[in-house]
Amino acid sequence: MFCGRPESQVPVLLQGETGCICSDCIKIGYEYLGEYGLTPEAGRKSSKKAAVNYKKLTPKEIHAELDQYVIGQDRAKKLLSVAVYNHYKRLESNLNVKGRKDVEIEKSNILMVGPTGTGKTLLARTIAKFLDVPFTIVDATVLTEAGYVGEDVESILSRLLQEADYDQEKAERGIVFIDEIDKITRKSDNPSITKDVGGEGVQQGLLKLLEGSIVNVPPKGGRKHPEQEFVHMNTQNILFICGGAFEGIERKIAQRVNTKVIGYGTQNTPLYDKENLLQYVNAQDLRAYGLIPEIIGRLPVLTYLDQLDREALKRILTEPRNAIVKQYKKMFELDGKTLIIDSDVLDLIVDTSIEKKLGARGLRSICEQIMTDAMYEAPSSPKKTWHVTLNYAKQHIN
Ligand code: ADP
Repeated sequence: MFCGRPESQVPVLLQGETGCICSDCIKIGYEYLGEYGLTPEAGRKSSKKAAVNYKKLTPKEIHAELDQYVIGQDRAKKLLSVAVYNHYKRLESNLNVKGRKDVEIEKSNILMVGPTGTGKTLLARTIAKFLDVPFTIVDATVLTEAGYVGEDVESILSRLLQEADYDQEKAERGIVFIDEIDKITRKSDNPSITKDVGGEGVQQGLLKLLEGSIVNVPPKGGRKHPEQEFVHMNTQNILFICGGAFEGIERKIAQRVNTKVIGYGTQNTPLYDKENLLQYVNAQDLRAYGLIPEIIGRLPVLTYLDQLDREALKRILTEPRNAIVKQYKKMFELDGKTLIIDSDVLDLIVDTSIEKKLGARGLRSICEQIMTDAMYEAPSSPKKTWHVTLNYAKQHIN
């Protein structure tokens, strides 16, 4: 007998070849196995947990989702849709083969180049939202090499872990958006002999995360909690999307493009749209700008964003699912009122934003200027309909 008790004291006894075991011991044993994930339930539970928790969408469906929130930027949307689709397909296939990896699909982190306020963050945020995966945004400018004032690159993963409510498995399938990646370019033309703390050193640090490795992460982040134990996070399945304005990169593109044109003796046939050179950006230009080749190699999907024109800005005001104008209308509706905004008011908002060189970012603050008085008066007024005319708007814009 396994536990040494007599048969009379046990509920059920199972007879083996050379001994017996009681149902109580089986129960304890079963629980014990459960702790090691070896029971059918535990297996089911953990495989459910391990299942990729993203909605399976085709690239076209991903594009359509993005269309609901982001205006224009078709090229970027297309590339992103394919990259995200492939990323999660890759996750799935690597899960299925379990150790028998004949063809291992490598991950494709993304780099978006485009002027500020054109939708880079919005695109990344939208993707994370509809995929329902943990998402964090980090500003590359706050990162410094370990040991210097600023944040270590590992803090990026601490934040992702926090976003995932410390569910490591979930965090390891999240999306990280690294903004202003162009601000950590190598300062090669800087003759200073002091160390390039915020430049190449940070790029080297980032490389470790981008290429997929096990990183020691302080779960609470920062250096304020030296007592915390490190979590060993695997970055293999984390999708990194980087964004940057790369101001002045057109000059590098122009240099490359011009030599090419001359080289082929086709000076008279302008193959390149000189007004819009960003669309030709490639790895060579990024290198000339100061990204190290290893980082470029780890960001194989490269796309650009267009500057938003007047028409796009107007659409941004009204079309996205949570467009600014829709939000104001909703707020009035909640008070039982109707808000009408004339179309020429929208033109005024767009023109003011362009004039102040604020782009899409400026739209909300200009709307606020126009709407504040109305939002102050409306709740205590018996008036049911509020009509914002061009005249009214002009009086309220500073
Ligand atoms: P960046 O390219 O600098 O990351 P953001 O994505 O942060 O720009 O854009 C700033 C804000 O401007 C967004 O929150 C959004 O309201 C608006 N916006 C910018 N581009 C677009 C776009 N293409 N479609 C809809 N809204 C946009």
